[in-house]
Amino acid sequence: MAHIVIMGAGLGGVPMAFEMRNKARREDTITVVCDQPTFNFTPSNPWVAVDWRQADQIKVELAPVFKRKKIEFVHARVEGLDPKNNTLTLSDGQTISYDYLVIATGPELAFDEVEGLGPDGYTVSICTTDHADNARKKWLDFVEDPGPIIVGAAQGASCYGPAYEFAMIMDTDLRKRKIRDKVPMTYVTAEPYIGHLGLNGVGDTKGMLESEMRNRHINWITNARIKKSQRWHDGDRRGERGWLGGGHPRTALQTFDDVAGLSRHQTPDGAGRSGQSARLCHGG
Ligand SMILES: Cc1cc2nc3c(=O)[nH]c(=O)nc-3n(C[C@H](O)[C@H](O)[C@H](O)COP(=O)(O)OP(=O)(O)OC[C@H]3O[C@@H](n4cnc5c(N)ncnc54)[C@H](O)[C@@H]3O)c2cc1C
Repeated sequence: MAHIVIMGAGLGGVPMAFEMRNKARREDTITVVCDQPTFNFTPSNPWVAVDWRQADQIKVELAPVFKRKKIEFVHARVEGLDPKNNTLTLSDGQTISYDYLVIATGPELAFDEVEGLGPDGYTVSICTTDHADNARKKWLDFVEDPGPIIVGAAQGASCYGPAYEFAMIMDTDLRKRKIRDKVPMTYVTAEPYIGHLGLNGVGDTKGMLESEMRNRHINWITNARIKKSQRWHDGDRRGERGWLGGGHPRTALQTFDDVAGLSRHQTPDGAGRSGQSARLCHGG
């Protein structure tokens, strides 16, 4: 009899637990340890952020699902791993021993690497469902008092697709609300070209995504390293009428840098590179 422990119950951990239950022997025990009580369907986060879905609609309580599948579930954070003794220490003080361990704890978000970035700074994120729910509140404020917006993925992002997806979802939502004309949109990315996706393109993504961004009037800045995000000051205004009068926090991305050795940023509308300003969302 073996004890198989899976750390994390996200997109990796949950299917792993189900597969493992099918493949393991009846007498083997499978335990999932996760610091969240729910499975959150991360790919739907962009819908939460524009209020097309409520956070609860993309969350599933883990305990009853695992119980039905005869999988043990512990809601706690793994705080220590001792591979010599095959044990985990949990936030609730328990120690668990394992014969086999699967680590599926996902990414660690690195907002601290860019000053002012992230939900504790001056940008919103859709990386987790809770972030997306927070972004939703900001979005509902934003559509009451629209202005320029920046969306993108910072240098070091492992996954660029959601940033494009979110840009297009915002565009669609703004059109539905009939306020798209009030929101100049700029996509900012460390990718060397539109459609690179961190993968040097996938098939025709360069041409297809450039075309889609043009159709949707979304400007872009590529090859960019975000140095800082900060609250926007009225005195720094660069002429966007009607935008700086509102009472809620504004964000400025003050400067974008070229990535050494690569080509200039592409700015289809000819906009300047530094001093770009808008509220920033990031999706990947
Ligand atoms: C907005 C967005 C849209 C996306 N859309 C798609 C898409 O359409 N298609 C696609 O294939 N991919 C998409 N992705 C990427 C995909 O969501 C990730 O690749 C995937 O979630 C990674 O799965 P994971 O199990 O490794 O991590 P996660 O899904 O992040 O799960 C990790 C789990 O481990 C838990 N955990 C972390 N540390 C501990 C600990 N110490 N102890 C216990 N538990 C812990 C976490 O709380 C979490 O529940 C998207 C990502 C984003 C942000």
